[in-house]
Amino acid sequence: CAKSNGRGSYVTFDPSMQVETLARLELEADLRKALARNELRVFYQPQMNLRTKDLIGCEALIRWQHPTRGLLAPGEFVGVAEEMGIIASLDLWVMETACQQVKEWRAVPDARALTVSVNVSAQHLLQKDLKEAVKAVLNRHGLPPSALCLELTETVLMENLDAGNQLMQELRAIGVGLHMDDFGSGYSSFRQLSELPFDTLKIDRSFIERIAVNGQSRKVVDAISSMAHTMGLKVVGEGIEDRSQAELLASMDCDIGQGYFFAKPLDARSFYTKYLRKKGMHRSFAVSHGDQA
Ligand code: C2E
Ligand code: MG
Ligand code: MG
Ligand code: MG
Repeated sequence: CAKSNGRGSYVTFDPSMQVETLARLELEADLRKALARNELRVFYQPQMNLRTKDLIGCEALIRWQHPTRGLLAPGEFVGVAEEMGIIASLDLWVMETACQQVKEWRAVPDARALTVSVNVSAQHLLQKDLKEAVKAVLNRHGLPPSALCLELTETVLMENLDAGNQLMQELRAIGVGLHMDDFGSGYSSFRQLSELPFDTLKIDRSFIERIAVNGQSRKVVDAISSMAHTMGLKVVGEGIEDRSQAELLASMDCDIGQGYFFAKPLDARSFYTKYLRKKGMHRSFAVSHGDQA
């Protein structure tokens, strides 16, 4: 309702704003309860070695099974969770769930080295307990640190280079991977890349989108890939949607590919069925997942 602006005078506003505000408040109230109500889900998108076409890992992506609105993508609530200051608890839940899942998948003979990447919001990164949380999660699931990668973006890192750098050095000492996400999207810079201890660079989808049709974009991606390799980084191409993009990236020595061309993010069961079931018939594993549904 209208806010009283001093005595008897009212701030005028557009009624549509009121609707938006109510919707937002409702979303916030629902989101606060989502974790406890077990409404959050993790989807997994495969990452392939672009040379051999082998599955090497996956990215864990959060979804929200909203009680009335259906399955929501992160674009609908991750920003809200950040503004509410609760993103860290969601990130930790995703990390826990993904590590447990990948530990189980690693029982499949051909998937023993499967990795999982989780997205970590910068707000979260700057909290000191991330390092302890990562160690604890790995311990709980008996997972080697090399199985887990943290994907980072964000300007906050840039504004807090010293704090960010120190925490990243500590994470690196644990042995987890540190991937710069969305490189080239504007939120990550050469300065971050050169000063922070990343081991992998993910080239933003907006570049990949254009490489097959635009010679200039192709040169840019080729140059980014060479530069990353010179710096000792691995290169992931994100958002690969067709074969020509996959082949061009492979010809530019891009190491890893991720995108709808290979698969959309899948729920755990579908990921298992599509990528792991045919590979091995580890007994307890087959039983725990079953073939039903
Ligand atoms: P991201 O980390 O860059 O993840 C990749 C996004 O690109 C995913 O969107 C994925 O579905 C989408 N994508 C992959 N391949 C293709 C393709 O070929 N074409 C197109 N058009 N899109 C593709 P999604 O799952 O909607 O996630 C969006 C963003 O939300 C993520 O971008 C990440 O920044 C954030 N996010 C997702 N999960 C989490 C989480 O657990 N915690 C935090 N803090 N952020 C998350
Ligand atoms: Mg990511
Ligand atoms: Mg990305
Ligand atoms: Mg992103």
